[in-house]
Amino acid sequence: MSSGKSKLGAIFGAKFGAKSTTGGSACSWILVMALALACLACDESKDAAQDKADKPQSAPTVASADVPLPTLSLPPDNGAAPAFDGDRTMQYVKEIVALGPRPLGSANHKKVEDYITSHLKGDTVEDDAFIADTVEGKVPVRNIIAKYPGTKDGIIVIASHYDTNYPLRKTSFIGANDGAATSALLLEFANQIRGKKRDGYSIWLLWTDAEEAMKTWSDTDSLYGTRHLAQKWQQDGTAKQIKAFLLADMIGDADLDIDRDTNSTPWVESVVYEAATRLGYQSHFFARSNAINDDHLPFMRIGVPCADIIDIDYGYNDVFHHTVQDTVDKLSVKSLDISGSVILETVRILDKMDPLPPISPGDAKH
Ligand code: ZN
Repeated sequence: MSSGKSKLGAIFGAKFGAKSTTGGSACSWILVMALALACLACDESKDAAQDKADKPQSAPTVASADVPLPTLSLPPDNGAAPAFDGDRTMQYVKEIVALGPRPLGSANHKKVEDYITSHLKGDTVEDDAFIADTVEGKVPVRNIIAKYPGTKDGIIVIASHYDTNYPLRKTSFIGANDGAATSALLLEFANQIRGKKRDGYSIWLLWTDAEEAMKTWSDTDSLYGTRHLAQKWQQDGTAKQIKAFLLADMIGDADLDIDRDTNSTPWVESVVYEAATRLGYQSHFFARSNAINDDHLPFMRIGVPCADIIDIDYGYNDVFHHTVQDTVDKLSVKSLDISGSVILETVRILDKMDPLPPISPGDAKH
């Protein structure tokens, strides 16, 4: 990691350096905050950010990053904290990383597919499987979707990628935080939701595939799975039914400090923060603002309200991100508990918000 670390890496910690040395920006691409809201995740924003990267700027406070929000009709805070089992989630993490590196097209990738579906027996599980034409050739990609019906008309999607970084496929990179932790989180959500009558929206758990770049992160070399799925859901009308898309990434970090993502939908981010506050976990949320490029972007582009729930500073100066040091000892049960509970509380608030801010698929960002 350190050998190729650029000046940007020195300035920004490992974030930019990590991306250049590993050949993929993978889960995210940190951009300087200024103007980020004005140019969401487009090519121009990346270029602008890279230009600005030579002149580091302090991240604005949450308040100054805020944009006018619709008035939110929040339900009263009178329920018990959601049930979540961080210990069982950690066990899942350990079992997933024990499979080894799980890059696209590998035998281990197939093993983690089987691992996930083996925990969903009896559930309604669908695939979005296709052959992606990538910069490294044609590879099979499989998004896995488990569907749990609710009583309200609409869908809340909770997503995490399960592939591991492809450029690091010949190393011992196992992606404990980057892929495994949140894939495990979704498996535990399934445990909590399964078999219970949902007085709310349908929940679809989505294990996304091919999030990582094959070589170097770009609009065309990244997010293969979600770009395919967003197009499919736009064409078949599913996108219009999605009330919120909650993306989980890299939030098992023992030093949990979840970013406010300015590429997400501000009101959904606000609901996440409300959920964190109701549970007393707000000190782990939104001390930083960053514009994150991740699996939510293809859905943002078709007008789906999204929140990327991510801690992009993994280890001091992000030193563990996309390195062989991304191992289970850097995670904690407590962080998994916080992340899992806050996401479930977010769902509970969304279920009871009446009305939700209108969805405007016609207002797609691009
Ligand atoms: Zn990654």
